[in-house]
Amino acid sequence: RLVSLEGGEGAGKTTVLNALREALREGGADVVSTREPGGTPLAERIRGLLLDREHETPTADAELLLMFAARAQHVHETIRPALARGAWVLCDRFTDSSYAYQGGGRGIDPAWIAELERRVVGLRPGLTLLLDIDVARGRARTRGRDLVPDRIESERDDFFERVRAAYRARAAAEPARFRVIDASRPADEVAREAVRLLREWRDG
Ligand code: C5P
Ligand code: MG
Repeated sequence: RLVSLEGGEGAGKTTVLNALREALREGGADVVSTREPGGTPLAERIRGLLLDREHETPTADAELLLMFAARAQHVHETIRPALARGAWVLCDRFTDSSYAYQGGGRGIDPAWIAELERRVVGLRPGLTLLLDIDVARGRARTRGRDLVPDRIESERDDFFERVRAAYRARAAAEPARFRVIDASRPADEVAREAVRLLREWRDG
């Protein structure tokens, strides 16, 4: 079963992912946790190309295509084989991030993203937890912690507002897949709710 975690900067995805992994492993499950962009050696190299500051800024189209190049590799090398042997796959970001960042944030036509998704991904998570937090709070959490690449850090608030709006719109359009968690609360509370929602979905 494939579960993805989504959210903007400072939402606390990594903390929640660790809690979910521990909860599943306590129950004896085989769990693969992975991330995007990344999740294979090649895809991690592409992540570096996207997030490091050693070269010029990619255009929005270049960014989208590199994200999908990484994702194609990740799905083929990591996600599908794990699902095929019956493992749980927990993914820190997946295709919804492209709809939110490259679509909402950078203004790319979502129909094109959907076409790439259909052709090179061909699967969606069964459960997606959206850690929703208002932009100012999320940004305040990451400030000075070197968690956000300069290229993203330097965006104005309206970029992050569009990212957030795109995420919320996706959650509203697919309520059977998404659970929206208020991530402005303390990290341990957020993690507890995420674990509860995952168990409910698993057992339901
Ligand atoms: O998930 P994580 O915070 O590690 O992601 C690294 C950065 O990549 C984030 O700052 C996020 O804004 C950016 N990103 C993006 N488009 C995506 C996925 C991530 O701009 N599709
Ligand atoms: Mg993170």
